[in-house]
Amino acid sequence: MNLPPSIIQCFTGQLPHTGPKISGNLVPNQFPTISLPQRIAIIGEAPGATEDQDGIPFSGQSGKLLNLILSAHGLPRESCFVGNVCNFRPPNNDLSVWDWNSPPIQESLDRLTRDITNYNPNLVLLLGRYALYAATGEYRSIESWRGSLFISNWTGSPFIGRKCLATYHPANLLRQYDNTVLFRFDLSKAIDESTFPTLDLPKRRSHLGLSIDQIVGAMEYIVECAARTGSVVRLSFDLEGWFNRITRFSLAINKEESIIVPITRGEHDSHWSPRDEGRIWCALHKLLADPRVRKVLQNSLYDRFVLAFQHHILISNVEWDTMLGHWELYAELRKNLGLQASIYTRQPYWKEDRENDSLEIRELYCCMDSMVTDECREVQQSILLEPEHVSSYNHFQFNMRLLNPLLWMELRGIRFNVTAAKKHADGLRRILWRRKHALNVIAGRDFKGNEKQLLSLAINRLCKKKLAPFVVSFGQLPDTCLKDAYDGAVRLAYLSSNGRLSGRMSDETLGEIESILDLELNVKSPDQMRQWLYVDKKHRRQYKKNKDGEQVLTADVGALLTLYLDTNDAVMKQVLEIRALLYKINTLETETDADQRMRCSYTLPGTDTARITCAISHTGSGYNLQTVTKKLRYLFQADPGHYLFQIDLAGADGWTVAAHCKRLGDSTMWDDYKFGLKPAKILARIYMEVQKELLENLAVTTISKKEIFQRVAVKFNSYTRDELKTLCKEVDQDGWLYFACKRVQHGTNYLMGATTMSEQIVKDSYKYLHDPIRVPVETCEAIKQLYLMRYPGVARWQEWVGRRVAEHKSMVAASGRVRQFFGRIYEKGKQLNHDTWKAACSNEPQDNTTYAINLVLYNLWHDPENREESLPFGLRVQPLHQVHDALIGQFRIEDTEWAVNKIRQWAKNILIIAGVPVEIPFEGAYGVSWGQLGDKTRKGVI
Ligand code: URA
Repeated sequence: MNLPPSIIQCFTGQLPHTGPKISGNLVPNQFPTISLPQRIAIIGEAPGATEDQDGIPFSGQSGKLLNLILSAHGLPRESCFVGNVCNFRPPNNDLSVWDWNSPPIQESLDRLTRDITNYNPNLVLLLGRYALYAATGEYRSIESWRGSLFISNWTGSPFIGRKCLATYHPANLLRQYDNTVLFRFDLSKAIDESTFPTLDLPKRRSHLGLSIDQIVGAMEYIVECAARTGSVVRLSFDLEGWFNRITRFSLAINKEESIIVPITRGEHDSHWSPRDEGRIWCALHKLLADPRVRKVLQNSLYDRFVLAFQHHILISNVEWDTMLGHWELYAELRKNLGLQASIYTRQPYWKEDRENDSLEIRELYCCMDSMVTDECREVQQSILLEPEHVSSYNHFQFNMRLLNPLLWMELRGIRFNVTAAKKHADGLRRILWRRKHALNVIAGRDFKGNEKQLLSLAINRLCKKKLAPFVVSFGQLPDTCLKDAYDGAVRLAYLSSNGRLSGRMSDETLGEIESILDLELNVKSPDQMRQWLYVDKKHRRQYKKNKDGEQVLTADVGALLTLYLDTNDAVMKQVLEIRALLYKINTLETETDADQRMRCSYTLPGTDTARITCAISHTGSGYNLQTVTKKLRYLFQADPGHYLFQIDLAGADGWTVAAHCKRLGDSTMWDDYKFGLKPAKILARIYMEVQKELLENLAVTTISKKEIFQRVAVKFNSYTRDELKTLCKEVDQDGWLYFACKRVQHGTNYLMGATTMSEQIVKDSYKYLHDPIRVPVETCEAIKQLYLMRYPGVARWQEWVGRRVAEHKSMVAASGRVRQFFGRIYEKGKQLNHDTWKAACSNEPQDNTTYAINLVLYNLWHDPENREESLPFGLRVQPLHQVHDALIGQFRIEDTEWAVNKIRQWAKNILIIAGVPVEIPFEGAYGVSWGQLGDKTRKGVI
């Protein structure tokens, strides 16, 4: 984040402490007119236009919102002191243009000091970063520090010696409504603290510098306690470092007491002799494996993966993962421990100590993590155990029981055919060079010389000129050459020895040379692409928001797709194809681990709608394996003697919509699904018929498009499902229309407009098929209308969702999970804010699908018949990967019959959706590779 320039200069002493003359009106601080036991001073930044006119602080938009929230918390504004860091309106309402030591600010701070002394509040509520600066004299991030209680100790502060609490400025809430919930947490804390002036922070004791005997003794003591007392023994655990370099960990026996166990001295050298370090790992193994000790962790999957992968230490009886507990209560909020602490505890922000130069502070930081984790657990547990949260608690427990199978999948990985991937990448690279050369010709950047010129150019470039005279052949390249240059030279020498540099060079060779010599138009270089697109080709400039919310010129893939949509330009398509090829090659060349297995990491729950998300493994191998395209799946293979299987939920999200439509009186979608008909396919067939009729009626001016739509819709409603099934056979399974209809079905369910759908189809087709499909907005709109005509229950269901969320601000899914909506609910002139409505419509379908597939994983994992001690991995059917509505795994070939029956059994689950029992059907297959499961070479179906 950028510091306000005047404040930076003030720190560095570069600025003469003079400033502008005060203009505008003085807006004095306002004293309370009602006396209550709560003595709060609310401090903002500076007046805006309304305040400047009225002479009253916080009388404009921000003030109105502030008053509203204060009264919702039972605190009349008249009972609070309301003031500002600066009593004068700055130019453009931007306080950063004034130096901190300039007269407008300094005069105001003097006034504020006097007023605060007069009022003598018990708590100062600091609104926004300037108020926080006025209390600390340091620039601190409001995102991090909001919710923290502290005593101001800056001598330059009007609040010195007073209890303070920072939160968002109300103007921020007007821009980012979602922060309101955090503001309200902070305000509640402020009100609780405002009846007394003292600050009594949680007492924590961290034991650092213990001897090896003390550390091992402490771990053994916890195990003994658990064995002896029979009462609950809990341990909160936190790990620092990476999968191959744990630096330290802390163990907290409660929220108040923790010990640090250093592993490295500082961040690198070992802290202990090998023997002593061995004693630590042994004692830790015994402690963490003991099921009588209940473990508490934040984001436990990470710690568990690292310990298991590197040290073969497994943690048994993980009783509470605070990330899951927090998500169950507040799915829409960020999940990090710092934010959780600001809600569930009175612990001030400590997270920036992680990178502190002092080892002692870094150790205290680690101890704090485990103690605060336990405190968050305590509060979450007390809330979730309240009778009204029983459903959420049960869902939390369900998710907790999914952590073991997810960890198993992260550890196990999938066998990856590295040789075939390399061969595939080599083939694509040749296509890439040809395409690149063609683009270079268009961009005027192709290599135009002969072989001799090429070689001298290459040597000059590769050796950075000054070395060139000493090099007579590529073999003599100096060691000091950069690696890239060296690799390029070796490749050129190879091409030369193969005779590919003599005579007429092929497009492929030219493309490669241009690439080696960096002559090419680099489609991945933002600078080159911006220059080429907007300066050379004069295309319409595309912008996107950066992380500070500013609009910046972009040439990213989104911009290229938009331009392609606008222009239908063949060159643009070529650029997109080159990018897709680069992406594919990159994916094919992704590192595996040393055992040639591809791994990934999971986050549960990863999204607000409960989906599990996936990313690169903690080992550094793999990537988001939920995005592996169908064409690359053949590389993922079963272990020798095994079959890989996949089961997919058929029509996943659609079943939830269909069940609700049925409840609301329209059973068409439900009956279609039951009959095995896919709504998107019917839709595609209806659209084909509409096109035919439009053509036939081209000359008949009396028939409108709308009438044709209605006529076709009625005709299709009159067909029996057997007839529909036959008609749907005419739909091309791999064609653009079916692809588009699937997106329009989902988009319409989730209240997406036709323009967004059209953009989404381009992006999705590019992402999944590497070929952007342009479906005009009008076509999307037409398909959408046909969808709503066939399934009128969809609009009724959307209305019902809107009413439910407006009334209850929450929704319950089939899993029992309750989602609270914290976004803006009401909007002027509308029943419900549109974004919230959209989020609500997508919530239950996605949540139910996730639950249905997670149930399969759950059943597989918890079925005692699936355990066989004698097997190397203990499981007869092993789960390997989860992809939203599909589960991938493997079993031994000799177990095929047993495994297929078992998988069918595990996948047969009844969900109660819209009051009706729904069994989402599944499709499954097995074979020797993941890619084989979708084609005719598969070994069998499930
Ligand atoms: N914003 C502030 O910070 N103070 C005011 O008085 C009004 C808006």
